[in-house]
Amino acid sequence: MNTVTEKFLKYAKYYTESDAETGLTPSTPGQMILAEELKKELQEIGLEQVSLDENGYVMGVLPSNLDVEVPKVGFVAHMDTSPDFSGKNVNPQFVENYDGSDITLNSEENIVMKVADFPELKKYIGQTLITTDGTTLLGADDKAGIAEIMTAVEYLAQHPEIKHGAVHICFTPDEEIGRGADYFDVEKFGADFAYTLDGGEIGELQYENFNAAFAKITFKGRNVHPGMAKNKMINSMLIATEFIGRLPVQDMPEKTEGYEGFNHLLSIQGSVEKTTLQYIIRDFDREKYEERKQLFINLCNQSNNDYGEGTATLEMTDQYFNMREKIEPVKHIVDIANEAMLQVGVTPMVVPIRGGTDGSRLSFMGLPCPNIFAGGHNFHGRFEYIPVNSMQKAVDVILKIVELLAVKN
Ligand SMILES: [Zn+2]
Repeated sequence: MNTVTEKFLKYAKYYTESDAETGLTPSTPGQMILAEELKKELQEIGLEQVSLDENGYVMGVLPSNLDVEVPKVGFVAHMDTSPDFSGKNVNPQFVENYDGSDITLNSEENIVMKVADFPELKKYIGQTLITTDGTTLLGADDKAGIAEIMTAVEYLAQHPEIKHGAVHICFTPDEEIGRGADYFDVEKFGADFAYTLDGGEIGELQYENFNAAFAKITFKGRNVHPGMAKNKMINSMLIATEFIGRLPVQDMPEKTEGYEGFNHLLSIQGSVEKTTLQYIIRDFDREKYEERKQLFINLCNQSNNDYGEGTATLEMTDQYFNMREKIEPVKHIVDIANEAMLQVGVTPMVVPIRGGTDGSRLSFMGLPCPNIFAGGHNFHGRFEYIPVNSMQKAVDVILKIVELLAVKN
């Protein structure tokens, strides 16, 4: 078995599901246990300034072995797995020399990954795939990223004949609950720019993501015995459904793709007296994003006009912004990743991220940070899988980026 696979299997066993409800950092204790292990490994590899802080951020530096100054590059991956699906007792399965047919993940429970549902599987005929046993997610998001970075930096440390500048490493907690950058100490990290290894399939290279807001709208009604309710009852659930009906019907996740934005209704909780809607608002274009937010304000005003002041209350917060505006001025860092991929035989696919990454927040914190593929598919569920070759190629891309930075400067 190759090194990156071994490392991935090891990390996959750690139970690091994050939890938005605990209010702690890291949000769950399992992440700290993995962090301790990663810190130990970085020390064993021989990195300098290895640290693990109280929030679970693991950092280390492989010092430059050049006598000239070259840019300090960083690589970042996250330790937690998504709370959307169980990450406990992950039991990876190997499909060797994949033949292109449906994959039975769990014969007892008859859980089958069908090619009809996941046609991308066809791209990996002849390769070795790692899948789940159907009962958990795999956690290739983002333990594959950790394994790839760890493998690359270990290789560099063991091959001092390869010339490189300083390589800065950070493993972060709680990316999946949107808090991965919260306590990231950019100054301590010390890199000029970085890459997150947190993308999907082989070739992905990303430097654009959504502008993102969260909106909570609370509608107040008035409850009266239904037999005597005429002209007295105000049903907050019905006001809420009016509000929902006024939003553009095409602008929802299930009807949009590419650069199209959306408003996504996350939850409804309602009674006659009180109804709460939770939305996320997403758009790549800043102007359109602001227009979407304005529409929420206008629609709340309309409810208040129709049913009285105080009927609808809007709480809306920005979550993150499109990193493109921070990457464009240093576009060469995308070009280097692009060239690195080409040189190791990977076709780059520059696609916008229909979500956020730690990298978008980090970019706004002063660390420009595009995203590179980690290699997996179908994140956050039982059909998650990763081809071994994609992990190996991600290692090659990291090594090539480091090499190009040393040569070009
Ligand atoms: Zn991820």
